[in-house]
Amino acid sequence: MRRGLPALRGLLGGGSAGRPLRLPAPSGPQPPAEGSGGGQLNVLPSFGFLFDIDGVLVRGKTPIPAAKTAFQKLVNSQGQFLVPVVFVTNAGNCLRQKKADQLSHILGVPISQDQVMMSHSPLRMFKRYHEKCVLVSGQGPLLDIAQDLGFSQPITIETLREKYPLLDVVDHDRTPDVSYPSAVELPKIEAVVLFGEPVRWETNLQLIIDVLLTSGYPGNPYHHENYPHIPVLACNMDLMWVAEAQSPRFGHGTFMVCLENIYKKITGKDLKYEALMGKPSELTYQYAEYLIRTQAAERQWKQPIQTLYAVGDNLMTDVYGANLYNRYLEEKNSRKGSKTQIQAKVAGGRGSAALSQDDEIDNSWENELASAAATHCRSVLVCTGVYNPHTEAPLDTKESITETVFHGHRDFSFDPGLVEPDHIVPDVDAAVDLIFHLENFAPN
Ligand SMILES: [Mg+2]
Repeated sequence: MRRGLPALRGLLGGGSAGRPLRLPAPSGPQPPAEGSGGGQLNVLPSFGFLFDIDGVLVRGKTPIPAAKTAFQKLVNSQGQFLVPVVFVTNAGNCLRQKKADQLSHILGVPISQDQVMMSHSPLRMFKRYHEKCVLVSGQGPLLDIAQDLGFSQPITIETLREKYPLLDVVDHDRTPDVSYPSAVELPKIEAVVLFGEPVRWETNLQLIIDVLLTSGYPGNPYHHENYPHIPVLACNMDLMWVAEAQSPRFGHGTFMVCLENIYKKITGKDLKYEALMGKPSELTYQYAEYLIRTQAAERQWKQPIQTLYAVGDNLMTDVYGANLYNRYLEEKNSRKGSKTQIQAKVAGGRGSAALSQDDEIDNSWENELASAAATHCRSVLVCTGVYNPHTEAPLDTKESITETVFHGHRDFSFDPGLVEPDHIVPDVDAAVDLIFHLENFAPN
């Protein structure tokens, strides 16, 4: 499963194929990779941090030692942040407050839920679905999460399974003992929201396919002509993630691969997403920047936050996403004044419709997202998670980098330029040192 990473590794040395990757020294300020030079020290930030969590700050439930050291540098003696900081995780199986509490405990500094962005956070903006009956898939307190995001009629796979007991029969030991199907009272399901990987994959795969092939009435027979199917909104496309095990584990992206392939096999058509969110989608970074801007305004830091530094451990998620957003910012700034388009899906994409300002996203959000002030988003790769710098480099980079090892989502095209990090550092503490140095930042 990991063959993609060694194949891509040759890119990261920034030089000829096969050259061993040179990492910066494990601690202390790193030499700037781009012109910042000497000059006056800055006491107020014109930059912000987007920190990934898994593989950067923790592995599973175990803190990464460098994280605590790094965060001592980011707060003043009252525990207030010296720089805007947002945690951008593709995890989605808990509420923001719970994640904030976990982070406060791990990092030893107070973290508010407004600093935490889960993969599902942008669903707040999809108001047109909030009053509709939506099926939610994932694990954890799904109904609480959905309601917190604004959905008033979410139903779980478990509820669906209870209402339609004849549908879920993969596990013979759980096959319901029913002679008559129960009276069904559920309204039409009008959208499917995929929050994260479920526990019983076979149950979710079966019931989601049932809902899609019956236009929201899973007790009915299949109608293949129901295409395009009812909207599917998906969070967190990560194929894999790291926990305590030596090798990465299946992520929600793996579940989505299963669902997409089953749908295609049965119908001959592509499963379509109304929106894909979580890193690396642009929508996620737009929302994260909005949170950064809000923090800066609350602290009355007058100067605009111009550079975002996205610190992560995953080439396909953190580096690809930051570089993609950087392209978006550069493009946006090069055609300033023209109407901003908000795209939920951007790179490549079969049938990936852009969401225009007039369409999906509520008006108040349009203005917030369109008023982005950042000019750059820099990708910083750490070596404490999915990315492993010690894997042997391929001999011929060009030949080994092909789409066959692309771990990104189906609707995001492979682009070698997007998986090349701006900086590679050993850990998050080295990342903070490097960025303070690049920014000439010396808080009081
Ligand atoms: Mg990660």
